[in-house]
Amino acid sequence: MTRLKGRDTPVKSALLDQRVVAGLGNIYASEVLHRAGIDPRRKVGRIAASRLAGLVPMIREVLSEAIAAGGSSLRDHRRPDGELGYFQHVFRVYDREGAPCLTPGCGGTIARITQAGRSSYFCPRCQR
Ligand SMILES: [Zn+2]
Repeated sequence: MTRLKGRDTPVKSALLDQRVVAGLGNIYASEVLHRAGIDPRRKVGRIAASRLAGLVPMIREVLSEAIAAGGSSLRDHRRPDGELGYFQHVFRVYDREGAPCLTPGCGGTIARITQAGRSSYFCPRCQR
């Protein structure tokens, strides 16, 4: 994770950079940053080293949950109503725009922004 240091890019984009964290998908980058309490727009170089180091166990946790929920690749599947869906039960922020933040005691509302053409979901209240 030290390779992220000093980069003048938003942390979300840095997480998606294949040279930094191979295989971390767009959905999971949002999930990791929510658990870490880091705003996806924050520039890597403006995040304390201790907080960056804290991302590593979060990445492992989120990816192992994703594998347990249906595989390392995000295979979509048909819901009973015929709509395509993902394994949404593992997501705390992805596709939850306008829904209450699940962080205990937060009370914030999940927001969606676009970064580099991809959706980012985050809580403006508990992600700084
Ligand atoms: Zn929150």
